Amino acid sequence: MMKNTSYKSVESKRFLVNEIPGFSCGRAWIELDGAALRYNVSSLTAELPEHCELMPAVKAEAYGHGAVLISKELNQIGVQAFCVAGVAEGVQLRKHKIKGEILVLGYTHPEDFHLLSQYHLAQTVVDYPYACLLNEYGKTISVHIGIDTGMHRLGERLENMDQIYEIFEMENLRIEGMFTHLSADDTMTPEDQEFTNAQIHDFYEVVEKLKEQGYPCPKLHLQASYGIVNYPDTAEDYARVGIALYGVLSTREDTENCRIPLKPVLSLKVRVASVRNVHPGEAVGYGRQFIADHEMKIATLAIGYADGLPRTLSNGVGEALVKGYRVPIIGRICMDQTMIDVTDIPDVQSGDIAVIIGTSGEEEITACDIAEQTGTITNEVLSRLGSRLERMWV
Ligand SMILES: *Cc1c(COP(=O)(O)O)cnc(C)c1O
Repeated sequence: MMKNTSYKSVESKRFLVNEIPGFSCGRAWIELDGAALRYNVSSLTAELPEHCELMPAVKAEAYGHGAVLISKELNQIGVQAFCVAGVAEGVQLRKHKIKGEILVLGYTHPEDFHLLSQYHLAQTVVDYPYACLLNEYGKTISVHIGIDTGMHRLGERLENMDQIYEIFEMENLRIEGMFTHLSADDTMTPEDQEFTNAQIHDFYEVVEKLKEQGYPCPKLHLQASYGIVNYPDTAEDYARVGIALYGVLSTREDTENCRIPLKPVLSLKVRVASVRNVHPGEAVGYGRQFIADHEMKIATLAIGYADGLPRTLSNGVGEALVKGYRVPIIGRICMDQTMIDVTDIPDVQSGDIAVIIGTSGEEEITACDIAEQTGTITNEVLSRLGSRLERMWV
């Protein structure tokens, strides 16, 4: 007879993304903490002067959290502006009835310009030639002009003032905003501070020149998350907050030293698929990278690198939490499965829940831990979490 005792359903879920009727939560899923998100919104809002609005970056599925879920919640608590990387992300939000301004930060191909007007999305002017393309489309398009003050990625170069004036003269562009991106605002070495202050100075010089020429000043924005933390005086009309909204900064050190209180929004959980004994000398996983040297009990988790669990966490680099215990990942992480050592944990059974990011008992694994273990930043760890993962509020 089937034993049902090991099956625990995920409690108090408010919403599932996947629209399969009767689907519970899948093999591995993301739990979103709405209270933490609201906490971060108020912490960050409190840092900004009254005239400065949050413009959350919900690109890349809101850094893996789920763009529609996060944006809906933000809309409900009064957030009225968003930014995304691509036009398709903006369309997805509109199709789910997200209200307010949506700014496309990156490139949109001219064949997709019709989507900008159809879905009321504002487009970034990535340089002067691109402004010409937008203008040639023929119908009015709302834009924010990017100004390149030193990152040399997107935006018109600030020394090309004549071309920036020309953009203001283009008859089919409704210029709603102008912004720059600070490329070294996350490190406070004297050199980087000097560089960032020059970026800020140069941006305001563009603003002043436009005013001198009599152009109306559009909405301005310079800050991303680190700008809010490290350069609070640069708050203008919007703050394009991404990673901080999700409750961490890019590294553990920055997160621990952050003067603005933040709480992680996301937990990553997974079902134990199978538990088995492994005898001394037996191998676990692809390539026989792990060989048991004693009698062991291992659990196979229903998550793999295709879900965004970095394969570089293989062979003991990464860990999972089970029943309040911290245990190592053993062998190579597979595309859809991961093995952990549960030898010393009593009563682990198929259907139990393991935690990859989040808390279990007294133990916690954060996105910062995984970023550190894999030599990257939390932004990458979170934004790579895969589309197979169910996302839900708890
Ligand atoms: C992604 C992005 C942001 C948000 O950055 P965070 O560091 O995550 O806050 C802001 N501005 C631009 C232009 C971006 O591309």
